[in-house]
Amino acid sequence: MSTNTKKSKTLYWLQAGGCSGDSMSILNMESPDLFSQLASLDIDVLWHPSLSTISAVEHDNMIQDLLSGNQKLDILCVEGNVVMGPDETGMFDTFRGKPKKDLINELSKIAHYVVAVGTCASFGGFGSHEGDEMGGIGLQQHHDKKGGYLGDDFTAKSGAKVINLPGCPIHPKALEFVLNMISRDLPIDLDKNATPTAYYAKTVHQGCTRNEHHEYRVEDNVFGEEGCMFFHLGCKGPTTHASCNTYLWNDVNSKTRAGVPCFGCTDVHFPHPNPFFETQTIAGTPMFLPEGVDRAYYLAYKDMAAAAAPDRLKTKKEEE
Ligand code: SF4
Repeated sequence: MSTNTKKSKTLYWLQAGGCSGDSMSILNMESPDLFSQLASLDIDVLWHPSLSTISAVEHDNMIQDLLSGNQKLDILCVEGNVVMGPDETGMFDTFRGKPKKDLINELSKIAHYVVAVGTCASFGGFGSHEGDEMGGIGLQQHHDKKGGYLGDDFTAKSGAKVINLPGCPIHPKALEFVLNMISRDLPIDLDKNATPTAYYAKTVHQGCTRNEHHEYRVEDNVFGEEGCMFFHLGCKGPTTHASCNTYLWNDVNSKTRAGVPCFGCTDVHFPHPNPFFETQTIAGTPMFLPEGVDRAYYLAYKDMAAAAAPDRLKTKKEEE
């Protein structure tokens, strides 16, 4: 894919401890598609494991050129977590017989920007919880703790911290936004988890077509209805920061619009140990309420709202 020119930004995509789901997701980028987007931003993809066709020898030479400074590296995208197992050796995930974590460290030091693509790269994700032999760790954050593999003091050559783009998988729009900003040398505003506010400030709840049902506590108890899935079916939309209901997937739909609860896949602790399709409750009400809400007021309001629910919502649900 290399069409290197002097003004191009170069991008190297490193696949670490993950399932390649993020790569599959960005291949579904639409309007524009991935290749048109990269071309319009003049981004030169030096290497992507699913897209590049150069030989292993050419790939090795490229890495040498990168590490020696003969080839500049503007954007390092890491997909998947940094594998530390077994016993901190990193030998569960290797490149040419050496732990891949060493290559991640070396490339991070020479890149102008380091982008953690997906929840595993951002916060650890799958294989990162206590007792997981894989020993996965996020690039610069482990769950809610700063530092991760590279350490809290790490900055890329541009001076920027690792940019986290969580999601399991990542929403193509989040990557599209970051590539746009970097290619234009524009600053990216990040929140406390180093995720771009432009994409992650909103919650999944905002824009869900079931909001009116949530408002009046018209609840779904089984799948296939049109009520809100927050109270029984495990929906984490009100506590999950992502724009799935603002920028629809494939410009068509989202999980909650299609009747599947939000699993909270951008959350720092994802995957959560509790069942995905069940709401954890305290005395019959959800354990985790929408952010910033007072429990006592919320419960009082929801009881009153349920009593005031319009017939058209209740009737529609009863007819299903
Ligand atoms: S289904 Fe989930 S995202 Fe939709 S309104 Fe209910 S809680 Fe919010």
